[in-house]
Amino acid sequence: MAFESLANRLQNAFDKLRGRGKIDETVVNEAMREVRLALLEADVNFKVVKDFVARVKERAVGQDVMKSLTPGQMVIKIVNEELVELMGGSVAQLTMAHRPPTVIMMAGLQGAGKTTTTGKLAKYLQKQNRKPLLVAGDIYRPAAIKQLQVLGEQLGVPVFTLGDQVSPVEIARQAIDHAKTNHLDVVLIDTAGRLHIDEALMDELKQIREVTKPDEILLVVDAMTGQDAVNVAESFNSQLELTGVVLTKLDGDTRGGAALSVKAVTGKPIKFAAMGEKLDALEAFHPDRMASRILGMGDVLSLIEKAQASVDEEKARDMERQMRQGEFSFDMFLDSMQQLRNLGPFEDILGMLPGMNKMKDKMNVDEKQIARVEAIAKSMTKAERANPDLLNANRRKRIANGSGTSIQEVNRFIKQFDEMKKMMKQFSGAADKMMKKSKKK
Ligand code: GDP
Repeated sequence: MAFESLANRLQNAFDKLRGRGKIDETVVNEAMREVRLALLEADVNFKVVKDFVARVKERAVGQDVMKSLTPGQMVIKIVNEELVELMGGSVAQLTMAHRPPTVIMMAGLQGAGKTTTTGKLAKYLQKQNRKPLLVAGDIYRPAAIKQLQVLGEQLGVPVFTLGDQVSPVEIARQAIDHAKTNHLDVVLIDTAGRLHIDEALMDELKQIREVTKPDEILLVVDAMTGQDAVNVAESFNSQLELTGVVLTKLDGDTRGGAALSVKAVTGKPIKFAAMGEKLDALEAFHPDRMASRILGMGDVLSLIEKAQASVDEEKARDMERQMRQGEFSFDMFLDSMQQLRNLGPFEDILGMLPGMNKMKDKMNVDEKQIARVEAIAKSMTKAERANPDLLNANRRKRIANGSGTSIQEVNRFIKQFDEMKKMMKQFSGAADKMMKKSKKK
Protein backbone atom coordinates (compact mmCIF):
# COMPACT_ATOMS: atom_id res chain seq x y z
CA MET A 1 0.00 0.00 0.00
CA ALA A 2 1.38 3.36 -1.05
CA PHE A 3 2.15 6.07 1.48
CA GLU A 4 2.26 3.68 4.39
CA SER A 5 5.56 4.74 5.84
CA LEU A 6 4.85 8.41 5.18
CA ALA A 7 1.53 8.06 6.99
CA ASN A 8 3.21 6.37 9.94
CA ARG A 9 5.94 8.97 10.18
CA LEU A 10 3.52 11.85 10.04
CA GLN A 11 1.41 10.26 12.76
CA ASN A 12 4.48 9.95 14.93
CA ALA A 13 5.26 13.62 14.37
CA PHE A 14 1.74 14.58 15.38
CA ASP A 15 1.73 12.25 18.37
CA LYS A 16 4.43 14.43 19.87
CA LEU A 17 2.08 17.39 19.82
CA ARG A 18 -0.46 15.58 21.91
CA GLY A 19 -1.03 17.08 25.32
CA ARG A 20 0.50 20.45 24.49
CA GLY A 21 -1.72 23.23 25.69
CA LYS A 22 -0.59 25.99 23.43
CA ILE A 23 0.80 26.43 19.97
CA ASP A 24 4.06 28.33 19.99
CA GLU A 25 6.97 28.55 17.67
CA THR A 26 9.04 25.87 19.42
CA VAL A 27 6.22 23.36 19.31
CA VAL A 28 5.50 24.01 15.65
CA ASN A 29 9.17 23.95 14.72
CA GLU A 30 9.64 20.64 16.44
CA ALA A 31 6.69 19.03 14.68
CA MET A 32 7.58 20.48 11.33
CA ARG A 33 11.13 19.18 11.57
CA GLU A 34 9.65 15.70 11.67
CA VAL A 35 7.17 16.44 8.90
CA ARG A 36 10.02 17.75 6.75
CA LEU A 37 12.05 14.58 7.26
CA ALA A 38 9.02 12.40 6.58
CA LEU A 39 8.34 14.15 3.28
CA LEU A 40 11.97 14.03 2.18
CA GLU A 41 12.10 10.36 3.01
CA ALA A 42 8.96 9.84 0.92
CA ASP A 43 10.97 11.23 -1.99
CA VAL A 44 9.10 14.49 -2.27
CA ASN A 45 10.96 17.14 -4.25
CA PHE A 46 13.30 19.15 -2.00
CA LYS A 47 11.99 22.55 -2.98
CA VAL A 48 8.40 21.41 -2.64
CA VAL A 49 9.13 20.26 0.90
CA LYS A 50 10.80 23.54 1.79
CA ASP A 51 7.89 25.64 0.55
CA PHE A 52 5.37 23.33 2.13
CA VAL A 53 6.97 23.47 5.57
CA ALA A 54 7.32 27.23 5.36
CA ARG A 55 3.64 27.65 4.51
CA VAL A 56 2.43 25.41 7.31
CA LYS A 57 4.70 27.14 9.84
CA GLU A 58 3.53 30.55 8.81
CA ARG A 59 -0.08 29.57 9.18
CA ALA A 60 0.38 27.64 12.43
CA VAL A 61 2.49 30.03 14.46
CA GLY A 62 0.51 32.73 16.10
CA GLN A 63 -2.80 31.07 15.27
CA ASP A 64 -5.23 31.18 18.08
CA VAL A 65 -6.04 27.60 18.69
CA MET A 66 -9.71 27.19 17.95
CA LYS A 67 -11.69 26.26 21.00
CA SER A 68 -12.62 22.88 19.67
CA LEU A 69 -9.10 21.92 18.65
CA THR A 70 -5.95 20.97 20.50
CA PRO A 71 -2.65 22.32 19.14
CA GLY A 72 -1.95 18.90 17.63
CA GLN A 73 -5.27 18.85 15.83
CA MET A 74 -4.71 22.41 14.68
CA VAL A 75 -1.39 21.54 13.05
CA ILE A 76 -2.88 18.41 11.48
CA LYS A 77 -5.73 20.50 10.10
CA ILE A 78 -3.31 22.95 8.52
CA VAL A 79 -1.06 20.17 7.18
CA ASN A 80 -4.12 18.46 5.72
CA GLU A 81 -5.33 21.61 3.98
CA GLU A 82 -1.87 22.31 2.61
CA LEU A 83 -1.48 18.72 1.36
CA VAL A 84 -4.78 19.00 -0.50
CA GLU A 85 -3.63 22.28 -2.02
CA LEU A 86 -0.25 20.78 -2.93
CA MET A 87 -1.95 18.02 -4.91
CA GLY A 88 -4.12 20.43 -6.82
CA GLY A 89 -6.97 21.34 -4.47
CA SER A 90 -9.93 19.76 -6.19
CA VAL A 91 -10.54 16.99 -8.70
CA ALA A 92 -9.27 17.96 -12.16
CA GLN A 93 -11.94 16.89 -14.64
CA LEU A 94 -11.30 15.74 -18.18
CA THR A 95 -11.95 18.43 -20.75
CA MET A 96 -14.54 17.25 -23.22
CA ALA A 97 -14.87 18.85 -26.65
CA HIS A 98 -18.04 20.81 -27.34
CA ARG A 99 -18.18 19.12 -30.69
CA PRO A 100 -17.26 15.44 -30.58
CA PRO A 101 -15.02 13.65 -30.89
CA THR A 102 -12.96 14.61 -27.87
CA VAL A 103 -9.32 13.77 -28.58
CA ILE A 104 -7.12 12.47 -25.77
CA MET A 105 -3.48 11.92 -26.52
CA MET A 106 -1.65 9.54 -24.21
CA ALA A 107 2.10 9.95 -23.74
CA GLY A 108 4.67 8.32 -21.53
CA LEU A 109 7.92 6.41 -21.31
CA GLN A 110 8.01 2.69 -21.99
CA GLY A 111 6.81 0.60 -19.09
CA ALA A 112 5.02 3.44 -17.32
CA GLY A 113 1.72 1.74 -18.04
CA LYS A 114 0.60 3.90 -20.95
CA THR A 115 -1.11 1.23 -23.04
CA THR A 116 -2.81 -0.36 -20.03
CA THR A 117 -3.96 3.06 -18.83
CA THR A 118 -5.36 3.87 -22.28
CA GLY A 119 -7.50 0.73 -21.98
CA LYS A 120 -8.54 1.63 -18.43
CA LEU A 121 -9.51 5.10 -19.53
CA ALA A 122 -11.65 3.62 -22.30
CA LYS A 123 -13.45 1.56 -19.68
CA TYR A 124 -13.83 4.60 -17.40
CA LEU A 125 -15.40 6.55 -20.28
CA GLN A 126 -17.65 3.64 -21.25
CA LYS A 127 -19.09 3.74 -17.75
CA GLN A 128 -20.01 7.36 -18.41
CA ASN A 129 -21.88 6.28 -21.50
CA ARG A 130 -19.22 7.51 -23.86
CA LYS A 131 -18.21 5.65 -27.00
CA PRO A 132 -14.44 5.58 -27.12
CA LEU A 133 -12.12 4.62 -29.97
CA LEU A 134 -8.68 3.24 -29.20
CA VAL A 135 -5.98 4.26 -31.66
CA ALA A 136 -2.85 2.15 -32.07
CA GLY A 137 -0.25 4.88 -32.54
CA ASP A 138 2.73 2.99 -31.15
CA ILE A 139 4.05 1.33 -34.29
CA TYR A 140 7.60 0.73 -33.07
CA ARG A 141 7.05 -1.75 -30.29
CA PRO A 142 5.89 -4.88 -32.12
CA ALA A 143 3.54 -6.04 -29.39
CA ALA A 144 1.90 -2.67 -28.73
CA ILE A 145 -0.70 -2.87 -31.49
CA LYS A 146 -1.64 -6.40 -30.47
CA GLN A 147 -1.81 -5.36 -26.79
CA LEU A 148 -4.26 -2.59 -27.62
CA GLN A 149 -6.34 -4.93 -29.78
CA VAL A 150 -6.59 -7.41 -26.93
CA LEU A 151 -7.67 -4.64 -24.57
CA GLY A 152 -10.23 -3.43 -27.11
CA GLU A 153 -11.64 -6.91 -27.43
CA GLN A 154 -11.95 -7.33 -23.66
CA LEU A 155 -13.77 -4.03 -23.38
CA GLY A 156 -15.84 -4.23 -26.53
CA VAL A 157 -14.21 -1.01 -27.73
CA PRO A 158 -13.18 -0.58 -31.38
CA VAL A 159 -9.46 -0.26 -32.10
CA PHE A 160 -8.18 1.77 -35.04
CA THR A 161 -4.93 0.57 -36.60
CA LEU A 162 -3.22 0.90 -39.95
CA GLY A 163 -0.48 -1.59 -39.07
CA ASP A 164 3.10 -0.59 -38.45
CA GLN A 165 4.02 0.80 -41.88
CA VAL A 166 2.01 4.01 -41.80
CA SER A 167 3.26 6.99 -39.77
CA PRO A 168 1.57 7.56 -36.40
CA VAL A 169 0.68 11.09 -37.50
CA GLU A 170 -1.27 9.74 -40.45
CA ILE A 171 -2.86 7.05 -38.27
CA ALA A 172 -4.04 9.69 -35.80
CA ARG A 173 -5.45 11.87 -38.59
CA GLN A 174 -7.42 9.02 -40.13
CA ALA A 175 -8.57 7.79 -36.72
CA ILE A 176 -10.38 11.04 -36.06
CA ASP A 177 -12.19 10.80 -39.39
CA HIS A 178 -13.06 7.21 -38.55
CA ALA A 179 -14.50 8.30 -35.20
CA LYS A 180 -16.60 10.99 -36.85
CA THR A 181 -18.11 8.67 -39.44
CA ASN A 182 -18.80 6.01 -36.84
CA HIS A 183 -20.19 8.35 -34.17
CA LEU A 184 -17.53 7.52 -31.62
CA ASP A 185 -17.18 10.43 -29.25
CA VAL A 186 -13.77 10.04 -27.58
CA VAL A 187 -10.57 9.22 -29.46
CA LEU A 188 -7.84 7.79 -27.25
CA ILE A 189 -4.48 7.85 -29.02
CA ASP A 190 -1.83 5.49 -27.68
CA THR A 191 1.55 6.88 -28.71
CA ALA A 192 5.04 5.42 -28.83
CA GLY A 193 7.04 5.16 -25.64
CA ARG A 194 10.81 5.11 -25.39
CA LEU A 195 13.13 4.19 -22.60
CA HIS A 196 14.34 7.79 -22.44
CA ILE A 197 13.07 11.05 -23.72
CA ASP A 198 14.60 11.73 -27.13
CA GLU A 199 14.12 14.33 -29.80
CA ALA A 200 12.65 12.02 -32.42
CA LEU A 201 9.94 10.96 -29.98
CA MET A 202 9.11 14.52 -29.01
CA ASP A 203 8.97 15.57 -32.68
CA GLU A 204 6.54 12.80 -33.46
CA LEU A 205 4.34 13.68 -30.48
CA LYS A 206 4.35 17.34 -31.49
CA GLN A 207 3.28 16.43 -35.01
CA ILE A 208 0.43 14.29 -33.69
CA ARG A 209 -0.57 17.20 -31.51
CA GLU A 210 -0.52 19.56 -34.51
CA VAL A 211 -2.70 17.30 -36.59
CA THR A 212 -5.20 16.18 -33.95
CA LYS A 213 -5.49 19.32 -31.79
CA PRO A 214 -6.12 17.21 -28.69
CA ASP A 215 -8.41 18.35 -25.88
CA GLU A 216 -6.20 16.49 -23.45
CA ILE A 217 -2.55 15.48 -23.49
CA LEU A 218 -2.14 13.11 -20.58
CA LEU A 219 1.26 11.93 -19.46
CA VAL A 220 1.37 8.51 -17.85
CA VAL A 221 4.06 8.21 -15.17
CA ASP A 222 5.01 5.40 -12.85
CA ALA A 223 4.60 6.46 -9.22
CA MET A 224 7.14 3.85 -8.15
CA THR A 225 9.91 5.87 -9.80
CA GLY A 226 9.43 8.79 -7.40
CA GLN A 227 11.50 11.83 -8.33
CA ASP A 228 12.20 10.42 -11.79
CA ALA A 229 8.49 10.49 -12.53
CA VAL A 230 8.45 14.17 -11.66
CA ASN A 231 11.50 14.89 -13.83
CA VAL A 232 9.93 13.06 -16.76
CA ALA A 233 6.73 15.04 -16.29
CA GLU A 234 8.69 18.28 -16.24
CA SER A 235 10.49 17.50 -19.52
CA PHE A 236 7.37 16.33 -21.33
CA ASN A 237 5.49 19.35 -20.09
CA SER A 238 8.12 21.81 -21.29
CA GLN A 239 7.92 20.36 -24.81
CA LEU A 240 4.32 19.31 -25.14
CA GLU A 241 2.29 21.41 -22.73
CA LEU A 242 0.49 18.61 -20.98
CA THR A 243 -3.03 19.04 -19.69
CA GLY A 244 -2.65 16.48 -16.94
CA VAL A 245 -0.83 13.51 -15.49
CA VAL A 246 -1.91 9.95 -14.79
CA LEU A 247 -0.06 8.34 -11.90
CA THR A 248 0.19 4.56 -12.20
CA LYS A 249 1.17 1.76 -9.83
CA LEU A 250 -0.08 3.51 -6.73
CA ASP A 251 -1.07 0.04 -5.52
CA GLY A 252 2.61 -0.74 -5.17
CA ASP A 253 4.96 0.20 -2.44
CA THR A 254 5.51 3.76 -3.56
CA ARG A 255 6.68 6.24 -1.04
CA GLY A 256 4.40 8.85 -2.49
CA GLY A 257 6.88 11.52 -3.60
CA ALA A 258 5.55 11.70 -7.15
CA ALA A 259 1.95 12.20 -6.07
CA LEU A 260 2.99 15.05 -3.81
CA SER A 261 5.40 16.80 -6.18
CA VAL A 262 3.98 16.56 -9.71
CA LYS A 263 1.50 19.41 -9.46
CA ALA A 264 3.84 21.74 -7.62
CA VAL A 265 6.76 21.13 -10.00
CA THR A 266 4.93 21.06 -13.34
CA GLY A 267 1.85 23.10 -12.57
CA LYS A 268 -0.22 20.34 -14.17
CA PRO A 269 -2.76 18.39 -12.15
CA ILE A 270 -2.86 14.65 -11.60
CA LYS A 271 -6.14 13.69 -13.22
CA PHE A 272 -6.17 9.95 -12.61
CA ALA A 273 -4.58 7.41 -10.32
CA ALA A 274 -4.10 3.78 -11.39
CA MET A 275 -3.99 1.26 -8.60
CA GLY A 276 -3.65 -2.15 -10.16
CA GLU A 277 -3.28 -4.14 -13.33
CA LYS A 278 -6.98 -4.82 -13.84
CA LEU A 279 -8.94 -2.68 -16.25
CA ASP A 280 -11.17 -1.16 -13.62
CA ALA A 281 -8.23 -0.05 -11.49
CA LEU A 282 -8.37 3.61 -12.51
CA GLU A 283 -9.87 6.35 -10.40
CA ALA A 284 -10.23 10.09 -10.73
CA PHE A 285 -7.55 11.61 -8.52
CA HIS A 286 -9.09 13.25 -5.44
CA PRO A 287 -6.50 15.44 -3.66
CA ASP A 288 -8.60 15.60 -0.49
CA ARG A 289 -9.04 11.85 -0.23
CA MET A 290 -5.38 11.27 -0.96
CA ALA A 291 -4.36 13.73 1.77
CA SER A 292 -6.70 12.00 4.14
CA ARG A 293 -5.05 8.68 3.39
CA ILE A 294 -1.58 10.13 3.79
CA LEU A 295 -2.52 11.48 7.20
CA GLY A 296 -3.83 8.07 8.25
CA MET A 297 -7.37 9.43 8.40
CA GLY A 298 -8.55 6.84 5.95
CA ASP A 299 -10.49 7.23 2.76
CA VAL A 300 -13.97 6.11 3.62
CA LEU A 301 -15.54 7.83 0.61
CA SER A 302 -13.47 5.82 -1.88
CA LEU A 303 -14.23 2.68 0.06
CA ILE A 304 -17.95 3.32 -0.17
CA GLU A 305 -17.68 4.02 -3.89
CA LYS A 306 -15.72 0.81 -4.36
CA ALA A 307 -18.35 -1.10 -2.42
CA GLN A 308 -21.17 0.39 -4.44
CA ALA A 309 -19.45 -0.55 -7.66
CA SER A 310 -18.59 -4.11 -6.78
CA VAL A 311 -21.09 -5.44 -4.30
CA ASP A 312 -24.05 -7.35 -5.64
CA GLU A 313 -26.77 -5.31 -3.98
CA GLU A 314 -29.56 -7.79 -4.39
CA LYS A 315 -27.50 -10.55 -2.88
CA ALA A 316 -26.43 -8.31 0.00
CA ARG A 317 -30.03 -7.42 0.76
CA ASP A 318 -31.09 -11.06 0.65
CA MET A 319 -28.33 -11.93 3.00
CA GLU A 320 -29.25 -9.16 5.39
CA ARG A 321 -32.83 -10.38 5.50
CA GLN A 322 -31.77 -13.93 6.21
CA MET A 323 -29.39 -12.82 8.94
CA ARG A 324 -32.13 -10.82 10.58
CA GLN A 325 -34.10 -14.02 10.78
CA GLY A 326 -31.17 -15.62 12.50
CA GLU A 327 -30.19 -17.76 9.55
CA PHE A 328 -26.56 -18.10 8.66
CA SER A 329 -25.17 -20.85 6.50
CA PHE A 330 -21.73 -21.72 5.22
CA ASP A 331 -22.96 -20.67 1.78
CA MET A 332 -23.69 -17.23 3.11
CA PHE A 333 -20.28 -17.17 4.70
CA LEU A 334 -18.62 -17.97 1.36
CA ASP A 335 -20.75 -15.38 -0.41
CA SER A 336 -19.81 -12.64 2.00
CA MET A 337 -16.14 -13.54 1.72
CA GLN A 338 -16.43 -13.29 -2.05
CA GLN A 339 -18.10 -9.90 -1.83
CA LEU A 340 -15.35 -8.64 0.46
CA ARG A 341 -12.72 -10.04 -1.87
CA ASN A 342 -14.25 -8.15 -4.80
CA LEU A 343 -13.24 -4.96 -3.03
CA GLY A 344 -9.56 -5.84 -3.30
CA PRO A 345 -6.85 -7.11 -0.95
CA PHE A 346 -7.89 -6.93 2.71
CA GLU A 347 -4.83 -4.91 3.53
CA ASP A 348 -5.83 -2.16 1.10
CA ILE A 349 -9.37 -2.07 2.43
CA LEU A 350 -8.10 -1.71 5.97
CA GLY A 351 -5.82 1.10 4.84
CA MET A 352 -8.90 3.05 3.76
CA LEU A 353 -10.40 2.99 7.23
CA PRO A 354 -9.47 5.81 9.60
CA GLY A 355 -6.66 4.99 12.00
CA MET A 356 -6.16 1.55 10.53
CA ASN A 357 -2.77 2.19 8.99
CA LYS A 358 -1.15 1.97 12.38
CA MET A 359 -3.38 -0.81 13.61
CA LYS A 360 -2.74 -2.98 10.60
CA ASP A 361 0.62 -4.28 11.73
CA LYS A 362 -0.76 -5.17 15.12
CA MET A 363 -3.83 -6.86 13.71
CA ASN A 364 -1.78 -9.04 11.46
CA VAL A 365 -4.44 -9.79 8.89
CA ASP A 366 -3.54 -13.17 7.57
CA GLU A 367 -4.97 -13.67 4.10
CA LYS A 368 -3.61 -17.21 4.04
CA GLN A 369 -5.63 -18.07 7.13
CA ILE A 370 -8.74 -16.67 5.50
CA ALA A 371 -8.05 -18.71 2.38
CA ARG A 372 -7.77 -21.89 4.51
CA VAL A 373 -11.10 -21.25 6.14
CA GLU A 374 -12.64 -20.67 2.75
CA ALA A 375 -11.15 -23.91 1.49
CA ILE A 376 -12.80 -25.74 4.39
CA ALA A 377 -16.22 -24.30 3.57
CA LYS A 378 -15.73 -25.10 -0.10
CA SER A 379 -14.88 -28.74 0.69
CA MET A 380 -18.31 -29.27 2.23
CA THR A 381 -21.16 -30.65 0.14
CA LYS A 382 -24.09 -28.42 -0.64
CA ALA A 383 -26.19 -30.25 1.93
CA GLU A 384 -23.54 -29.85 4.61
CA ARG A 385 -23.19 -26.16 3.93
CA ALA A 386 -26.89 -25.65 4.38
CA ASN A 387 -27.17 -27.90 7.42
CA PRO A 388 -24.07 -27.95 9.65
CA ASP A 389 -25.70 -30.58 11.91
CA LEU A 390 -24.73 -33.16 9.31
CA LEU A 391 -21.07 -32.62 10.05
CA ASN A 392 -20.15 -35.79 11.94
CA ALA A 393 -16.62 -37.02 12.58
CA ASN A 394 -16.35 -38.89 9.28
CA ARG A 395 -17.48 -35.95 7.26
CA ARG A 396 -15.12 -33.64 9.11
CA LYS A 397 -12.24 -35.92 8.30
CA ARG A 398 -13.16 -35.90 4.61
CA ILE A 399 -13.40 -32.10 4.64
CA ALA A 400 -9.98 -31.78 6.28
CA ASN A 401 -8.48 -34.02 3.59
CA GLY A 402 -10.30 -32.22 0.82
CA SER A 403 -9.22 -28.77 1.92
CA GLY A 404 -5.66 -29.72 2.80
CA THR A 405 -6.19 -28.71 6.42
CA SER A 406 -6.39 -30.70 9.65
CA ILE A 407 -9.38 -32.05 11.59
CA GLN A 408 -8.51 -29.65 14.41
CA GLU A 409 -8.74 -26.72 12.04
CA VAL A 410 -12.06 -27.92 10.67
CA ASN A 411 -13.41 -28.35 14.20
CA ARG A 412 -12.22 -24.92 15.23
CA PHE A 413 -13.81 -23.27 12.22
CA ILE A 414 -17.16 -25.05 12.75
CA LYS A 415 -17.12 -24.02 16.39
CA GLN A 416 -16.37 -20.39 15.51
CA PHE A 417 -19.09 -20.51 12.92
CA ASP A 418 -21.60 -21.80 15.50
CA GLU A 419 -20.68 -18.99 17.85
CA MET A 420 -21.08 -16.44 15.07
CA LYS A 421 -24.51 -17.85 14.34
CA LYS A 422 -25.56 -17.71 17.96
CA MET A 423 -24.41 -14.13 18.21
CA MET A 424 -26.42 -13.17 15.16
CA LYS A 425 -29.51 -14.82 16.62
CA GLN A 426 -29.08 -12.85 19.82
CA PHE A 427 -28.60 -9.67 17.87
CA SER A 428 -31.63 -10.17 15.73
CA GLY A 429 -33.65 -11.21 18.79
CA ALA A 430 -32.61 -8.09 20.64
CA ALA A 431 -33.23 -5.92 17.60
CA ASP A 432 -36.72 -7.40 17.20
CA LYS A 433 -37.55 -6.71 20.83
CA MET A 434 -36.39 -3.14 20.50
CA MET A 435 -38.44 -2.67 17.36
CA LYS A 436 -41.55 -4.03 19.10
CA LYS A 437 -40.95 -1.83 22.12
CA SER A 438 -40.54 1.28 20.06
CA LYS A 439 -43.73 0.44 18.13
CA LYS A 440 -45.70 0.08 21.37
CA LYS A 441 -44.72 3.58 22.45
P1 GDP B 1 3.64 1.01 -21.58
O1 GDP B 1 4.95 0.51 -22.10
O2 GDP B 1 3.79 2.33 -20.92
O3 GDP B 1 2.55 1.00 -22.58
O4 GDP B 1 3.27 0.04 -20.37
P2 GDP B 1 2.18 -1.10 -20.27
O5 GDP B 1 0.83 -0.55 -20.35
O6 GDP B 1 2.54 -2.20 -21.21
O7 GDP B 1 2.42 -1.55 -18.75
C1 GDP B 1 3.65 -2.02 -18.26
C2 GDP B 1 3.41 -2.95 -17.08
O8 GDP B 1 2.92 -2.23 -15.97
C3 GDP B 1 2.39 -4.03 -17.38
O9 GDP B 1 2.83 -5.22 -16.82
C4 GDP B 1 1.14 -3.53 -16.67
O10 GDP B 1 0.30 -4.60 -16.27
C5 GDP B 1 1.74 -2.84 -15.47
N1 GDP B 1 0.86 -1.79 -14.91
C6 GDP B 1 0.28 -0.76 -15.54
N2 GDP B 1 -0.43 0.02 -14.68
C7 GDP B 1 -0.32 -0.55 -13.45
C8 GDP B 1 -0.83 -0.23 -12.14
O11 GDP B 1 -1.54 0.75 -11.89
N3 GDP B 1 -0.48 -1.08 -11.14
C9 GDP B 1 0.31 -2.17 -11.35
N4 GDP B 1 0.60 -2.94 -10.30
N5 GDP B 1 0.80 -2.48 -12.56
C10 GDP B 1 0.50 -1.70 -13.61
